[in-house]
Amino acid sequence: MRPRGIAILGSTGSIGTATLRVIARHADQFHVVALTAFGNATLLREQTASTHPRYVGIVTPGGDADRAWATGAECLVEAATRPDVDVVVNAVVGAAGLQATLAALRAGKRVALANKESLVIGGEFVLRACREGRGGGELVPVDSEHSAIMQCIGARPESEVSRLILTASGGPFREWDAERIAKATVQDALNHPTWTMGRKITVDSATLANKALEVIEAHYLFDVPYDRIDVVVHPQSIIHSFVEFVDGSVLAQLGFPTMELPILYALTHPGRVADAPAHRFDPAAASPLTFEPVDVGRFPSLALGIQAGRTGGVAPAVFNGANEQAVCLFLTGAIGFPDVPRAIESALGALSGLAAESIDDVVAADAAARLHVTELFRER
Ligand code: NAD
Ligand code: MG
Repeated sequence: MRPRGIAILGSTGSIGTATLRVIARHADQFHVVALTAFGNATLLREQTASTHPRYVGIVTPGGDADRAWATGAECLVEAATRPDVDVVVNAVVGAAGLQATLAALRAGKRVALANKESLVIGGEFVLRACREGRGGGELVPVDSEHSAIMQCIGARPESEVSRLILTASGGPFREWDAERIAKATVQDALNHPTWTMGRKITVDSATLANKALEVIEAHYLFDVPYDRIDVVVHPQSIIHSFVEFVDGSVLAQLGFPTMELPILYALTHPGRVADAPAHRFDPAAASPLTFEPVDVGRFPSLALGIQAGRTGGVAPAVFNGANEQAVCLFLTGAIGFPDVPRAIESALGALSGLAAESIDDVVAADAAARLHVTELFRER
């Protein structure tokens, strides 16, 4: 079989570079056809030199970009819809990944989705793009929890699944009291105990907004209602999630934390290929595995996000847009850590009541949420 053509959107990020490492180990199966990045031309040039893609795009070229590269935000959709692309790895961070997810699915591609934000914002519209596109459009999660759930469900029918239990590391503030969390610095929030990731998702893991995004992501991916999706804190990040079946049996997927496995599985699903994990699983070394309930009082973003998911309409897009804008302000030092959930709550209160008739409605809600948060802190 010819190697499958891969487009990596966000190739310079944490998931993008991990994807390139995975593909380099499986050159007989996959080859890089297209790469896109936001602005890191130096790294993009290095990646281009080693993988020889036919298409390279950079959103903001700057002085050191290659003249042959495509430029501007349109490069994501261009890369994602090329005829020689079989799988699009969407490793862009944030709402910026939405149009490429939609376009790739409509064009009949497999989307290996790390960019959970596009499913949270686009929800039903993303699923519709799968169903009503050219055919062959397929959404396969890269997120470790959702990869675990997909692996546990396997070919079982949805009617046999009774509950999903997503694991959460608890983030760097798991053992901090509310008073200390209120004074957390950017450095504190970026100090994740078990995963090394981009800055935005690392802050989301500290507020637990990431887990709310993942609950909404699971709701859409596996068509499970919110009252049958639970979250449990599991500080070791060894069990990547559980699935409970109707007869009471519970399956889990385990492994030392690495994104390379879920990335590879998103490329090969439903098959598996031989790979050499950096750390072979060792139950004794992984021991003990512990679990605790989430303390929603200290991490209000989690409940706010799940409630936005239940509300539906534009609410998930408002939640995500407000969170992205607040995290951006937090990372620049403009607002404090507790201002992030405060901003989300304020935006949801003001903007979440509208229905989502079209993708334009959710895009408008995303923009309105960002503006709301900017205005909220303007006088500071
Ligand atoms: P990152 O910040 O390391 O990388 C983001 C990539 O997107 C970069 O290549 C950047 O150039 C590109 N990008 C940023 N803004 C863009 C824009 N406006 N337009 C086009 N491209 C843009 O982020 P990451 O940690 O790799 O996360 C990427 C996605 O994967 C996020 O949605 C995150 O939630 C998800 N995810 C990440 C991990 C992880 O371990 N890092 C795990 C699960 C899910
Ligand atoms: Mg995850």
